Amino acid sequence: MRKLYYEDIHITHFKATVISCKPAETGDVYRVVLDATAFFPEEGGQSADIGTIDGQDVLDVQIENERIYHTVKEAIATSKTVECHVDWTQRFDFMQQHSGEHILSGIVHERFGYNNVGFHLSTREVTMDFDGVLDRTQLRDIELAANRVVWLNLPVEISYPSGEELATLSYRSKMEIDGQVRLVSIPGVDVCACCAPHVDSTGQIGLIKIVSCQSYKGGVRLTIACGQRALNDYRIKHDHASTIAQAMSVKQDQIVDAFEKLRGENQSLQESIHLLQAKYLSMALSTLPAPTQSRNAVLFTDITDNVAIRNAVNELTGRYAGYCALFFGEENNYRFILGSSREDCNEMAKKFRTSLGAKCGGNSLMIQGSVACSKNDLLSLFS
Ligand SMILES: [Zn+2]
Repeated sequence: MRKLYYEDIHITHFKATVISCKPAETGDVYRVVLDATAFFPEEGGQSADIGTIDGQDVLDVQIENERIYHTVKEAIATSKTVECHVDWTQRFDFMQQHSGEHILSGIVHERFGYNNVGFHLSTREVTMDFDGVLDRTQLRDIELAANRVVWLNLPVEISYPSGEELATLSYRSKMEIDGQVRLVSIPGVDVCACCAPHVDSTGQIGLIKIVSCQSYKGGVRLTIACGQRALNDYRIKHDHASTIAQAMSVKQDQIVDAFEKLRGENQSLQESIHLLQAKYLSMALSTLPAPTQSRNAVLFTDITDNVAIRNAVNELTGRYAGYCALFFGEENNYRFILGSSREDCNEMAKKFRTSLGAKCGGNSLMIQGSVACSKNDLLSLFS
């Protein structure tokens, strides 16, 4: 089987003969083997090419024992000559991401000695894992250095060195490779064993952006975007920044300051609301029958602040001998906190659950939960 993607990376239309077409073990699909293919299979962390064979969408491409299997929906006759088409938009996007990844990995390896120990490239995202930690400043420097390599428009060279030549070369490799090694070299930047399609020269990558960095297995996982993906990422973020700037009536480079100011204002508003809720609640508590007239204290309120409610219940348990309960929310959808200094709240929790189907928990001193019932149903438990 000829791997046309190794002969010319730009082949997108080709004719091939069907060697075999068999039903797949799972799913209502067929696996087609051709005498030659330009479809790059899922390999080395990279998703497979997409496109069409004989007018049918190629759903998956896998390589097993050097044989490439194309998954399609309908059977195709053996020996038939089929027209094939590889989706260049996705292929070129993958080439941009993968070559960008090599440049970044080469720079990180050269500067810090870290290895790329994980790579994932799909239409959704590109991630790369390093076995060492990188901080923000280092990442910024690496990103700039990688883009300088793009600007130099260096050739991306593919070679198949002999075993003897290979022994004299220094190159990155994720694993021990049996048989012929394919080297992808960017002069002065990186040499790496790799089976995937790459751009012809670094200028074709366009832009390399490190989008995020997170701790991962003692090292870091970088999410990157290259080429058009980086442009799309820039567009989305620019649109967001522009929308926020307009809404806040500030310039785009002032949105962080404006946001911090807004957050501060929001925080002090929240504090005022908490204070007002607590005051409102204490006024409501003063309308309850006095402890000399009632063992229990039961109040329905539209205050929803959990801290204020809890404080109020605590205050009541110091004054009333029975159960002290505050219900908030709406009829048939109440939440509550109930406490008592002398009674066992777990007993009340049982009653709530068995009589009213409440969901609640806590301890003998205090319980909280929710219940879907009427106000009268609740009051009946305290009579
Ligand atoms: Zn690679």
